[in-house]
Amino acid sequence: MKRDSVSSMNLTRRDLFRSAGILSGSAFLSAAVPDWAFAFAQGDQLAQMRAGMGATPITSQSLGANITMLAGPGGNVVVQRGTDGKVVIDTFVQPAWNALKAELDKMGNERIATVIDTHWHFDHADNNESFRKAGAAIVAHDNTKKRLTESHELLGAKFPPAPAAALPTQTFAATHKLDANGEQIVLTYIPPAHTDTDISIKFQKANVLHLGDTYFNGMYPFIDVSTGGNINGMITGATASMKLADASTKIVPGHGPLGDLAALTRYRDVLVTVRDRVAKLKKSGQTLQQVVAAAPTKDLDETWGKGFMSPADFLAIVYNTV
Ligand SMILES: [Zn+2]
Repeated sequence: MKRDSVSSMNLTRRDLFRSAGILSGSAFLSAAVPDWAFAFAQGDQLAQMRAGMGATPITSQSLGANITMLAGPGGNVVVQRGTDGKVVIDTFVQPAWNALKAELDKMGNERIATVIDTHWHFDHADNNESFRKAGAAIVAHDNTKKRLTESHELLGAKFPPAPAAALPTQTFAATHKLDANGEQIVLTYIPPAHTDTDISIKFQKANVLHLGDTYFNGMYPFIDVSTGGNINGMITGATASMKLADASTKIVPGHGPLGDLAALTRYRDVLVTVRDRVAKLKKSGQTLQQVVAAAPTKDLDETWGKGFMSPADFLAIVYNTV
């Protein structure tokens, strides 16, 4: 397939994740990998993903007196503000920088003090450099800094190492506490789940918990096997995060609408159900193709299989990491 026909394809995000699911799968599915997936891996897929996501308008939702969730051009962003400045979780994609900065300015004239990266993926950490130029410190897990300094192939795109100016300025291994605007913010490492760089961020007083991409609200999650992600880690991580919440905690997913403990519990239970069904079939000797053909999650797919991940792609990731 020629590059010009590739670039003329109008890909949705779901298509991108579908290709990623195939690419992250094993040789079992190699016959099913379309040639455009490989063409994209050689092309400017990253620029296309940035442009596509970056064009999404930003929506805003209050989570409390001085805390706001922004959604749209990338993973969900949370902003807390006050006399100590703004604390921003995640950064959207680069083309959304001006729109994001305008939203932040609209909230008030406090400086941007701190940015927290939930994990290394570009739809969350892509504007680190712009935030650093705006004077912010960037806090993240040790592995986020490490992963950002590497090259990666993900979602059919090539990611070169991030420039030094885009790296976190402060990293931690297990937990990190931050006092800002009369609030204690607790950052906790989640052992390999969606990636090996994931953290949760809890605003103790506001009772807001951001779980990054360890939580896709109401849909099967994407799991980045190439940087340590796996289904069992997703389940362990979700179960640990449930213990950080009560019935009134506002739980921010990496993607999808604002959630709560009941929604997070449903999500964790679905992950367990899919894992258990796939593990049983794999143990009985079924190939991935046989598992996909058997449609073991038919009853769940109508609700959970209409987001980023098709049922077949999610089954592939679960099969390959269980
Ligand atoms: Zn991610």
